[in-house]
Amino acid sequence: MPEPRLLVSGAGIAGLAAALACGRADRPVRVIERAAAFGEVGAGIQIGPNVTRILHGWGLEQSLARLAAFPDRLQVRSAISGRELAAMPLGDAMRRRYGAPYATVHRADLHRLLLDAVDAQGGVQLDLDSALLDFEQSSDAGVTVTVAGGRQLQSDALLGADGLWSPVRRQLLDDGDPQPTGHLAYRALLRQSDLPAVMRSGQVTAWLGPQLHVVQYPVRGGEWLNLVVVVHGAPDWLRAANATPGQLANWNQHADRGQLLAALGTVALPLRALVEAVPAWRLWILCDRAPMSGPGEHGRGRVVLLGDAAHPMRPYLAQGAGMAIEDAQAIATALADRARPVEVALAEFARLRWPRNRRVQRRSRRNGQVFHASGPVRWGRDAALALLGARLLELPWLYGGAGAGLGSRVDGT
Ligand SMILES: Cc1cc2nc3c(=O)[nH]c(=O)nc-3n(C[C@H](O)[C@H](O)[C@H](O)COP(=O)(O)OP(=O)(O)OC[C@H]3O[C@@H](n4cnc5c(N)ncnc54)[C@H](O)[C@@H]3O)c2cc1C
Repeated sequence: MPEPRLLVSGAGIAGLAAALACGRADRPVRVIERAAAFGEVGAGIQIGPNVTRILHGWGLEQSLARLAAFPDRLQVRSAISGRELAAMPLGDAMRRRYGAPYATVHRADLHRLLLDAVDAQGGVQLDLDSALLDFEQSSDAGVTVTVAGGRQLQSDALLGADGLWSPVRRQLLDDGDPQPTGHLAYRALLRQSDLPAVMRSGQVTAWLGPQLHVVQYPVRGGEWLNLVVVVHGAPDWLRAANATPGQLANWNQHADRGQLLAALGTVALPLRALVEAVPAWRLWILCDRAPMSGPGEHGRGRVVLLGDAAHPMRPYLAQGAGMAIEDAQAIATALADRARPVEVALAEFARLRWPRNRRVQRRSRRNGQVFHASGPVRWGRDAALALLGARLLELPWLYGGAGAGLGSRVDGT
């Protein structure tokens, strides 16, 4: 049986991770990326032990240790009173329980880590400035992809890892655009040394308030602090329904600091002081899709979707990049059996992955409701956090990996 030639659309986290994992399994891969160069855009990403375990398995433990931060504690505080509601140890506790650490990284650093690993490994061809325009698949002739400029590329399978606004998804599923969730994320990255000592932090802190929450954690070896404030609302141009997909897809819009401070309202003094200490914010309008409803949303025939293209996540469980990396490991595992036709391997991938991706999508949405609760729901949440503490924050089904096509299992029980 001929070796499958794999074409990956998109060199984001999902695309590079898939190229790396498939390349490790001696599958020749070609990656096409729309961007002409990679920038520093992005902010922090949390990666739980379900993800760091995979990165370690790919031989990236030391490189990750050089650029990530490894917070020792997760703390949940009331955004209104400032009181600690619950806490959970990370650090060694996570390593002991799950065999891998809980890390926080700058997205650009994680992206560079994967890019360097792909380069070092060989066997992966990366074409920048090569946007996929469309594709055609047939069961006998494989997939023909047309790239901007008219170039045509042949492959046995197409892995659509081209993000939230995936053109591969648009053609494959034709199920409309992602929709704004009604939440705005204001993001900032600042040097801890530029902050007063009392505001510097080596832990993950989530501040919960009515219709808002704030998350802060260290990145870049702890030298930088990543800060995200999520509030309900929409900018004027979005309310006026003038938004173009280009505006919605932009992670990095100018943010009005005054609007952020107004949206924050009356919050605990230390939180207010932290937000006020940030000179400039970037705005990201959150968009997503309904959770997956079946394996058909992961792919059809010789085309599969990975990462945000398949299952965009609200960021309230911090697993967008995580599920993209799990997808990458799972697709390489599915393709490892060389005796299987490629369509069968891709169908197996879809069958194994979609329930876990749906579960994470649903839990992310639910977390958003719980984080932003007001009235009696908020009192109930705070009481449950006080009573159960770490038991409520601990997620063995998530951090343990639980199979899901990954080819290895760590239960974490
Ligand atoms: C610039 C940027 C900044 C981000 N910042 C954050 C952040 O701060 N915090 C956070 O939690 N998440 C962030 N994310 C999202 C996070 O990286 C993803 O949710 C997660 O990593 C899943 O990645 P993905 O590879 O599926 O999608 P993405 O990371 O979005 O990657 C998709 C890739 O596909 C490429 N692409 C799109 N269209 C085409 C086409 N037609 N042909 C070829 N290539 C194409 C894109 O240029 C991109 O490189 C960011 C994503 C991007 C692109």
